[in-house]
Amino acid sequence: MLTGCGRGEVDALIQRSRTAGVSRWITIGTSLEDWELYRGLAATYKDVHWTVGLHPGSVDETWEDQVKTIASYFATDPVPVAMGEVGLDFFHLSKYPDEAAETRRLQQQAFRAQLGLAYQLDCPLVVHSRGAFRECVQMIDDSGVDWRRVVFHCFTEGPEEIQMLIDRGGYASFTGILTYRNADKIRAAAKLQGLERLILETDAPYLSPEPVRGTTNESAHLRHLAEFCAQLFNVPLTEVARASIRSTRNLFFGEQ
Ligand SMILES: [Zn+2]
Repeated sequence: MLTGCGRGEVDALIQRSRTAGVSRWITIGTSLEDWELYRGLAATYKDVHWTVGLHPGSVDETWEDQVKTIASYFATDPVPVAMGEVGLDFFHLSKYPDEAAETRRLQQQAFRAQLGLAYQLDCPLVVHSRGAFRECVQMIDDSGVDWRRVVFHCFTEGPEEIQMLIDRGGYASFTGILTYRNADKIRAAAKLQGLERLILETDAPYLSPEPVRGTTNESAHLRHLAEFCAQLFNVPLTEVARASIRSTRNLFFGEQ
């Protein structure tokens, strides 16, 4: 994700990223506050694409008006390549049961509405799920959205959960967490999904991979994650690049 705001900063980010072997980007929308920014980046830079979606953490009582705006973006140029991040986040709920229930209700309403829109538009879907994996799967099942165009981003579940995505034809994508010492369960999930369906992402500015863990994440750091995957799958780095680029293109652009 391109998080620099000034033109010079973005140019520098892109340059560092190219040097590290990353040459095409998808900036992921989360709220009214960043959609225009990412649309502007996609309009300015040829190899930058963007997505639009109301993140569960950004859902409030005004979600309905915001979702209407999302629909209108799909009629503009450059057109978003996916809807996202959308989903459910039950990790950051209020400690007061009434408030927590209300947040859950609003998130479910906003997610259901966006699933309906994704179904109509037949667009790819970037799902954010935290503490709500099975609920998200169920709601996507109910929506009729084509699972082959669905990715659960920043996958932090285990083999049992990834099998549910595999069975439906969906994808999981992985961040720097995959390189962390205590992530055996997530590595097992990545191996179960397999090299041919591997998708890598930054989730920048968060979750820098080892050995730059703890620093501000940026696209250039994706190389560390790819190098880690070369070891994990016991293949050359070029194979990781080939497979993950192919899966990403397949998901977002329908390319084989
Ligand atoms: Zn997310």
